[in-house]
Amino acid sequence: MSGRPAVGTPPPIAPRFDALIAQADAEAPLKLGILGGTFDPVHLGHLHIAEQAYAQYGLTGVLFIPTGRPAWKLDRPISSAEDRIAMLSAALSDNPHFDLCRLEIDRPGVTYTIDTLRTLKAYWADAVELYFIVGADAAHELSEWRDASAIATLVTILAARRPGVLSEQSDGGLPFDLRPIDTVPLDISSSELRTLAAAGRSLRYVVPEPVRSYIREHGLYGEVAHEVVGEAADGAVREAIR
Ligand code: ATP
Ligand code: MG
Repeated sequence: MSGRPAVGTPPPIAPRFDALIAQADAEAPLKLGILGGTFDPVHLGHLHIAEQAYAQYGLTGVLFIPTGRPAWKLDRPISSAEDRIAMLSAALSDNPHFDLCRLEIDRPGVTYTIDTLRTLKAYWADAVELYFIVGADAAHELSEWRDASAIATLVTILAARRPGVLSEQSDGGLPFDLRPIDTVPLDISSSELRTLAAAGRSLRYVVPEPVRSYIREHGLYGEVAHEVVGEAADGAVREAIR
């Protein structure tokens, strides 16, 4: 692809950053963080590593890119793209340096990161330097990703620690420019949150409040809308506020 489409040409890749990026060039490129994931659901662990990467590496912003059909998660059903997008936009709406990208969601078929990075590069050329944000589990698998050596030439990897995952494992010997993100390691994963929700347990304090409401209102993860915790003396049923 040659040249960038005019600002405002639908669909925007990064609605909040596109206009800014259009003014940047190779002389003064913008630093943009990319955080890819299934986000089923997005949780405070994701938001925290993105925020710390933003602050520590002087990024202009962080672009969250939910996967369409991730290559490595074909073995379990995942929530619909629209549910995951809705939860993400609710989670990101109050932070002007976070943005949401539909690139992978709108692309049919299985998702590979290299395709996304090439598309972004084709779109923005040298106006943007890409910083790919990962947790330690993803960092260790980088060398197994499709076209990993090409990924290494396109991005700087910013890696955050993740409880239960060793930080010292090798990156498979590929020449990644890998730098640490200093975080408070949060032991939160979407899988555990799905299990918690399915058991009718509270997701308060581990996902942003609007995400928690969305999960409840749409009955995601087999969550029952209200948990009955007891009966009052007059027979009225009390419900747990989750
Ligand atoms: P799942 O349990 O479904 O795999 P997850 O919590 O790992 O969900 P993903 O959407 O798979 O979330 O993760 C997207 C990216 O965020 C990955 O790079 C992952 O390593 C990172 N990440 C997720 N949770 C954390 C966390 N608590 N601390 C650090 N990194 C995290
Ligand atoms: Mg994961």
